[in-house]
Amino acid sequence: MRRIYLDHAATTPTRPEVVEAMLPYFTDAFGNPSSIYSYGQEARKAVEEARTKVAELIGARSEEIVFTSGGTEADNYALKGVAYANERKGNHIITTSIEHRAVLEVCRFLEGRGFKITYLPVDKYGLVAPGDVKRAIIGKTILISVMHANNEVGTIEPVEEIGKIAREAGVYFHTDAVQTVGHIPVNVDELRVDLLAISAHKFYGPKGVGALYVRKGTRLVSLMHGGGQEKKCRAGTENVPAIVGLSEALELAGQEMGKEAERLAYLRDKLIKGLMENIDHIRLNGHSKRRLPNNVNVNFDFVEGESLLLSLDLEGVCASTGSACGLASPEPSHVLLALGVPPEQAHGSLRFTLGRENTEADVERVLDVLPGIVARLRAMSPLSKSQK
Ligand code: PLP
Repeated sequence: MRRIYLDHAATTPTRPEVVEAMLPYFTDAFGNPSSIYSYGQEARKAVEEARTKVAELIGARSEEIVFTSGGTEADNYALKGVAYANERKGNHIITTSIEHRAVLEVCRFLEGRGFKITYLPVDKYGLVAPGDVKRAIIGKTILISVMHANNEVGTIEPVEEIGKIAREAGVYFHTDAVQTVGHIPVNVDELRVDLLAISAHKFYGPKGVGALYVRKGTRLVSLMHGGGQEKKCRAGTENVPAIVGLSEALELAGQEMGKEAERLAYLRDKLIKGLMENIDHIRLNGHSKRRLPNNVNVNFDFVEGESLLLSLDLEGVCASTGSACGLASPEPSHVLLALGVPPEQAHGSLRFTLGRENTEADVERVLDVLPGIVARLRAMSPLSKSQK
């Protein structure tokens, strides 16, 4: 049976061209970028070229890019780094209730160490109101962190407007752009951000590598101390093959972005329309327009998302009930709850995230099998008999 992968928000396959570009840095060009002889210089050149490429692709300067072990580290570095470097100025941070755990858990950690966090609500589409951000700013606010697009429901936040508010107030602004970089245009000046997190495995690069954009002049402390790499911002021998892979993947994504986003949005809308027409008692989660081109998140009444997921897997279709990191948790998604979805309904959600290798036939396959699966599971569900 052909497997259909529809979970690209969780991770993506590394593109063969990216693997090809990485390979020499495992073997022939294996040097440590800190070594001054030719092997080292070869590796240094690769890292610096990658930095320049990544910077260009997001409208930054190369010295503003710090390579990390992924999106989680980039988010941790932004929040903890700013918090500890600016403690004297204030201890208040503003974020939203729908951030990824790479931000929310850092906020909880900081709360335990004397920082005060405001978690802003979102509307039923998952949108943060810029006016709420403005009202939440106090004299002690040192950082605002609002994600560029949500990983579960795909809502694209009004980051430009929030950036303007942050700048006028003289408060640092971080955005978690893990789900947008490589998928929709991202320019740090247009978004008016001071810090921006990137993760390579979300755009067909390798896992375990990412970057944090840090606007020149932003005060933040390093999380990693040691050999002083990355201009003392992130100690540790650079993961040269992964860094090369990240920049290659981002360059390829940039070249294909416009056309690919259009193609994915077409498939997304076809899937949404097909689901709405063929299955009753379902609702789209997230915003219908301000939405990532590849994201479909739907709520099914009278049925558990996990049961749907397992039945789809038997048909060769891989989807998700929300974020990959939340799978081990029986709790309903914090994002859906924040959108006002009642807990019993939040349990019945499915997320499909399309990608490069998906075709119209894949969407048709989902539309072929899912109505039958939903009907079968509902027929067995005590929920459906009592409530329908
Ligand atoms: N932020 C968002 C919005 C994400 O979707 C993810 C990954 O799921 C992360 C952060 C974490 O990135 P990484 O897997 O590179 O640590």
